[in-house]
Amino acid sequence: MDKVSKIAVLTSGGDAPGMNPCIRAVVRTAIYNNLEVVGVKQGYQGLIDNDIYDMSRRSVSNILDLGGTILKTARCLDFRTEEGMEKAYKNLQDRGINGLVVIGGDGTFTGALRFSKKYPDIAVMGVPGTIDNDLGGTDYTLGFDTATNTVIEALDKIRDTADAHDRLFFIEVMGRDAGCIALRAGISTGAEAILLPEKETAIEELIEGLKAGEYNKKSSSIVIVAEGDKRGAYDVAQMVQKEVKFYDVKVTILGHMQRGGSPTAFDRILGSRMGFAAVNALINGETQKMVGLRGNSIATTPLEEALNMHEFKLEDDLMEMVKILNI
Ligand code: ATP
Repeated sequence: MDKVSKIAVLTSGGDAPGMNPCIRAVVRTAIYNNLEVVGVKQGYQGLIDNDIYDMSRRSVSNILDLGGTILKTARCLDFRTEEGMEKAYKNLQDRGINGLVVIGGDGTFTGALRFSKKYPDIAVMGVPGTIDNDLGGTDYTLGFDTATNTVIEALDKIRDTADAHDRLFFIEVMGRDAGCIALRAGISTGAEAILLPEKETAIEELIEGLKAGEYNKKSSSIVIVAEGDKRGAYDVAQMVQKEVKFYDVKVTILGHMQRGGSPTAFDRILGSRMGFAAVNALINGETQKMVGLRGNSIATTPLEEALNMHEFKLEDDLMEMVKILNI
């Protein structure tokens, strides 16, 4: 494989705060190393539609504080087909692009791996960008910290009104099949219960806990329901309401606000480090890998391995702590 000389960068799948700092780092690291760099709009769709443009240091000025992604993102069905991949390859080849940085989640990485196996002359490097924190090979994904902080801010406000009215709130938070946001937000706000997809809490156990809280003279209670809990916040609330008469019960689904907002310091730094590392890994001849944060170091992991790990980062010790601190 030729040494990488021209890099394309794209964001794909769900957007996550921190993608922009990462794009900035990719562009500036590439230029510093005398590589050409282009941006691709709308993820893999832009590769297929040739929606690709040259980037300079100035194309990424003043974007560190922006949520979303300046390159836009999309879910692209065509890239799953052989014809779609061929079109994408041809567009890259015509422009002399031989390195690709993809910022996204496991779907994005699956596509990148398939593409690079089919066309190994294009080196690919993944950057984990998803608020869900559900990828192997990294302790944290880009956007997770910002999303968790957004949830905390909302929960603090809900606690004020819950307390004023002696209410029981069920709050549904994002995270797909992972309960990472729910657990961290629950620890940070003293939620009375956290329902996680990885470990289903029986309704009876939940009711018992809420009754104990009332006995302990709690004036409000908050139950966080991770979106991956199959029962959903409304159904859980309904089941509990029948048994718990001492609280007025309310449900709030936080929804897409959790994806937006200016990235936290953590996500700005993580995005910068990961973008910087992704370009350096390509320069060093690495391909079909992702960069990740392990401990406080950036390391690369083969995409194949990272996709198989798809681990959940729920620490049992944190769950145990919640049981003691939040009752
Ligand atoms: P998030 O975790 O935020 O949802 P994601 O990267 O997992 O992000 P997906 O929609 O699953 O989001 O995947 C992003 C894109 O990756 C898809 O729209 C598609 O273009 C591409 N992709 C996913 N799976 C494949 C596959 N098996 N083959 C080729 N391309 C794929």
